[in-house]
Amino acid sequence: MMSELNNSKMQEQINRTEESILHTYNRFPVVFERGEGVHLYDSQGKPYLDFAAGIAVNALGYHYPGYDEALKNQIDKLIHISNLYYNEPISEAGKKLVQFSGMDKAFFTNSGTEAIEGAIKAAKKYAFNRDGHAGYEIIAMNSSFHGRSVGALSVTGNAHYREPFEPLMGGVRFADFNDLDSVKAQVTDKTCAILMETVQGEGGIYPADSAFLQGVRALCDEKDILLILDEIQCGMGRTGYYFAWQKYGVSPDIMTCAKALGCGVPVGAFVLNKKAAASSLVPGDHGTTYGGNPLACAAVSTVFDIFEKEQIVSYVRELTPYLEKKLDELVDAYPCVKERRGAGFMQGLVIEGRPVGEIIRAALDKGLVVISAATDVIRLVPPLVITRTDIDEMADLLSQCLCGH
Ligand SMILES: *Cc1c(COP(=O)(O)O)cnc(C)c1O
Repeated sequence: MMSELNNSKMQEQINRTEESILHTYNRFPVVFERGEGVHLYDSQGKPYLDFAAGIAVNALGYHYPGYDEALKNQIDKLIHISNLYYNEPISEAGKKLVQFSGMDKAFFTNSGTEAIEGAIKAAKKYAFNRDGHAGYEIIAMNSSFHGRSVGALSVTGNAHYREPFEPLMGGVRFADFNDLDSVKAQVTDKTCAILMETVQGEGGIYPADSAFLQGVRALCDEKDILLILDEIQCGMGRTGYYFAWQKYGVSPDIMTCAKALGCGVPVGAFVLNKKAAASSLVPGDHGTTYGGNPLACAAVSTVFDIFEKEQIVSYVRELTPYLEKKLDELVDAYPCVKERRGAGFMQGLVIEGRPVGEIIRAALDKGLVVISAATDVIRLVPPLVITRTDIDEMADLLSQCLCGH
């Protein structure tokens, strides 16, 4: 009775939202009101264990000690000043991003898709500077996801997302991820960049094979093609490294970040190595009004400080075998769970013979937030601060949703 009353309150909130917000998402029927640690609470006070983290954004969970305080402190000083002037937070955030990636120069954006736009422009400009003319091509991967703006959509390997908006940016060729020969087959004398996620996210949680990534790097070196790695979802500690490529012994010429970069504040970046930075975008080539504003950069800077002080990245690496073990137990126990794929705290369970959405909704009902990837994968991208107990609870709740099938 009580819960029905509250549900009707939640339903009313949902209806009110749909009255004014364009229906571009089939949202889950829940209204979240606040978060604490690794838990969310809906507007009727029901707790949920959060293994989605706002799509891999809330790497520190909610109200991590020191995070809110740093933001509030910055709000009291200055939120926005434009990129026409210097400020301390952008200097700090840039220094740390460059330091932890071992790259050379950063450009801050407001989102992931804008980071991709900037990376594409930087690669095109690099080739333009080298050869004195435009007309370059980019090789991107099938099943990739790089964002929804027109440029980022042009390099997203999902025809369903692209088709209604064509013609998009020209000069994009698609190859198969983890298939070096298919990449080589797309190289022409116009290729200026090869773009890929180090671990494909939306496409179904596929980590790059070592031989593939190393092979692409060698190919790029041989032909002076820039390697752009999209670390928007897999970066910022999620795989047990600050950036997923750091495990492979290769480095990109340009990398894109967003999602967990600000742990909740909208911010992205594209980061260039020395070679790309030295001969690409110059004053007049690129800009943004909001990008890298003091509030967003205070978040980035604080996130790096917390990650370093609390050793978040090595914690992920240490706890990964436990998470993998618990998920592998689900694969063994339930025939509808075909396999586990992933790296660190970016894991997917492949579901067979049952709609993934049904399992995700059942989990939500039981107080566990998980999301999907591709059409058949349960995606787990929890805050990086989950404990063994949280993992046990997740496995137990998920198991209740999988059993009987
Ligand atoms: C989410 C995502 C993007 C797009 O980021 P937005 O902030 O939604 O624009 C790009 N690439 C990858 C790999 C992503 O996961």
